Amino acid sequence: MHSPFQKTRIVLVGTTHPGNIGATARAMKVMGLERLYLVAPQAKFPSAQATALATSADDLLKQAVVTETLTEAIGDCRLVLGTTARLRSLPLPVMDPRVAAGQALSEGQAHEVAFVFGRENSGLTNEETRLCHYLVNIPTSKEYHSLNLAQAVQVVTYELHMAMLDEQPGLVEPPDWQPEPIERVEFFIERLEKTLLEIGFLNPDQPKRLMQRLRRLFQRARPDENELNILNGILSATREAAHGRKTDHG
Ligand code: SAH
Repeated sequence: MHSPFQKTRIVLVGTTHPGNIGATARAMKVMGLERLYLVAPQAKFPSAQATALATSADDLLKQAVVTETLTEAIGDCRLVLGTTARLRSLPLPVMDPRVAAGQALSEGQAHEVAFVFGRENSGLTNEETRLCHYLVNIPTSKEYHSLNLAQAVQVVTYELHMAMLDEQPGLVEPPDWQPEPIERVEFFIERLEKTLLEIGFLNPDQPKRLMQRLRRLFQRARPDENELNILNGILSATREAAHGRKTDHG
């Protein structure tokens, strides 16, 4: 049978302990997931310790994709779910793993989906979180929120597996619209920033706030190809008009 998780990847960012990489591979394989991405692992990789903790999941380690940046690991993804133990002042919509698994399973029939996990000591940076569409938080006791990294992967992949068991084969409807991959949205946001600078809407001394808000807007909207083409077209026309005006008036 075709695995329902062929288009779903687990991404570990900046992992420090090789054992966590191995234990993650094992947590994934027992739940039927295979695609592991490692972004700038701080742990030496490959490593004997990772292989030891992976036990029979060492094939996942051999196939793991290592990248330098998170953007490289998720550029082609159209749904990105960032997991976090911290909820303070995070501007994104938050799901629990069960809800996230349902959505990932459904979208994962149609396009690439990523679950992103942060560093053991500091989680994901704000910059990394901004590339995500949703945050996933595993509910915990009030006293202590932070699970071990591989255990957090286990909870999420268990929910994916349960969501799959709950669905009758063929009943998971893929979404009828196809959001654009992260790398195209990022490309648009960079162009938008340049254009807003050119037309004097963005203050170069204080660019952060505005771009953060605009990015959030487009991450939330998850534009499809036509919509992004229209937006890019508007930018091109805006730039032409701005340049035209400059030449007209000398
Ligand atoms: N001190 C860090 C904890 C990181 S734990 C912090 O404050 O963010 C390492 C990773 O495990 C996290 O980045 C996240 O990906 C995952 N994780 C741990 N606890 C979690 C929880 N309660 N919900 C969701 N993910 C969690």
